Amino acid sequence: MRNPTPLKRSPIFIFGPPLILGTLGLGLVLQSGMFASPEHTIIAQQVEAFQAQNLTPPTPEMTDYLYPRSTIDFANQQYVVVNKHRELHPIDYAPAILVAAPSSESLDNSRELLLTPATATALVEMAKDMYEQGYGKLFVNSAYRTYEYQVELFESKTGQYGLAEALIRSAKAGHSEHQTGLAVDVSVPDQGCAIMQCFGDTKAGQWIADNAWRYGFIIRYEKDTTVITGYTYEPWHLRYVGIELTEIYSQNGIQTLEEFWGLPAAEFYLEEMTESTID
Ligand SMILES: [Zn+2]
Repeated sequence: MRNPTPLKRSPIFIFGPPLILGTLGLGLVLQSGMFASPEHTIIAQQVEAFQAQNLTPPTPEMTDYLYPRSTIDFANQQYVVVNKHRELHPIDYAPAILVAAPSSESLDNSRELLLTPATATALVEMAKDMYEQGYGKLFVNSAYRTYEYQVELFESKTGQYGLAEALIRSAKAGHSEHQTGLAVDVSVPDQGCAIMQCFGDTKAGQWIADNAWRYGFIIRYEKDTTVITGYTYEPWHLRYVGIELTEIYSQNGIQTLEEFWGLPAAEFYLEEMTESTID
């Protein structure tokens, strides 16, 4: 059963971040070149100091979130959390390296849309297994979007649906996961429901909901999580975070990155909240 009030903390959410820290934290700390920041350097030095004395570093506790938490703040990191409260830094960030996943018998990326290399690799692997298991050929509808493109997209949604509806249908520029190159919108055209909620009921959509985690993807905007994410259900929008995270995420029935990292719900943009308090 899914929790009808998902923001209410269950032990799973309290222990989720220490779990991930315990599972991969120290390993990642030691690869501090990947995620260099002052906090990482300090923790890595502490770990080295313990090891130099042949002591086992202490088991991470809640207060040790500093390390993984700091990795969610930077646009170029796999764990970055982007939502209506958390804009990208810098706001017009663009990934240094982007690649187009090659089209194949299992994947149609004929528009040559771009993703980070790790995301593209995971997508290719997922599409291959999905196709071989008979669940259809994946089509890439949307992938990396530039800041400038997101500005135009949000303006066009506002013109089409009005501001209130645009706010839950698309992200303001600088607040879209697509700008990180870690998000991809997919469909299987011959099963219908492309970029529609009924995609979740198709054979392909169900397979993705059950299996995407095996390749490091989460469905970022699940059913009934709008009060946390600020977006309606999007069974087609996959966010790459890597399998180390998705294993813990899926095993614990977590539905949003906000819950996983213990972040506040981000249903509305901060400026919307300010406006409503002024009223
Ligand atoms: Zn999307």
